[in-house]
Amino acid sequence: AKMQMASAREEKILVLVRLRPLSDKEILANEVSDWECINDTTILYRNTLREGSTFPSACTFDRVFRGDDTTREVYEAGAKEVALSVVSGMNSSIFAYGQTSSGKTYTMMGITEYTVADIFDYMHRHEERAFVLKFSAIEIYNEAIRDLLSTDDTPLRLLDDPEKGTVVEKATEETLKDWDHLKDLLCSQRRIGETSLNEKSSRSHQILRLTIESSAREFLGKENSTTLSATVNFLSKGRQGHINYRDSKLTRLLQPALGGNARTAIICTLSPARSHVEQSRNTLLFACCAK
Ligand code: ADP
Repeated sequence: AKMQMASAREEKILVLVRLRPLSDKEILANEVSDWECINDTTILYRNTLREGSTFPSACTFDRVFRGDDTTREVYEAGAKEVALSVVSGMNSSIFAYGQTSSGKTYTMMGITEYTVADIFDYMHRHEERAFVLKFSAIEIYNEAIRDLLSTDDTPLRLLDDPEKGTVVEKATEETLKDWDHLKDLLCSQRRIGETSLNEKSSRSHQILRLTIESSAREFLGKENSTTLSATVNFLSKGRQGHINYRDSKLTRLLQPALGGNARTAIICTLSPARSHVEQSRNTLLFACCAK
């Protein structure tokens, strides 16, 4: 199993599947779970009432996580390595894909916290360099892009920058002091991580972006310093919906993060409830095609 994980980690796209537990509400409504993680890499669909189904009963991914696995375990098992590859100059993105209420926000908020804590830890351990960590947050809804750190609701445009690729026009960037600073931003901007079972949220995507810049301290202030910069893109809400990914702004924005010098972890989140089985199957089909 260790060797399998080692090779998975070297791949450009890591696909993780996370099955959340049944909620209290679902238990009260007599929901049952039809899914079981039978080992670290295989998820099994078993519903004796639906025998003869064309869906394969067992699917294998880089890692699968069951209801009692923590977000810390999801992070440590692969997302961490993808996220922290930014310190060596890679573009890196982590996104969650799954139906509304399957656990995307829950997963991404935890992973964002652990990543930022680890990046600050790295920055403190490398005092020979000066680092700046910047944060921005945008939402794409119906092909309109809004700046979640701004009170101005005027949609932002996508621009082609010769050096940075596709960039969002004038998205507000905050220079982070520490993890508490980001936590305050996430709490004060109500729209970040906002989730509800309405039609709007099922077609919206949020991208939380961290940009890390570093320069050698002895060159600080000189015009010709050697700047290393890398970007981490967090697509915190890869919400399922009938979106044409080929043409969408989401795809354009993610292009630099998905091609060339980039590492990606896709976390597919599943509700275990029998009443969500069709959505869960669609999510797993997406996960199977993601590599
Ligand atoms: P989404 O962002 O996909 O719409 P959420 O992250 O808001 O879904 O999750 C829906 C609910 O399920 C929330 O109340 C959340 O706290 C809970 N939840 C999600 N994943 C887990 C998990 N792995 N363990 C415990 N509770 C979870």
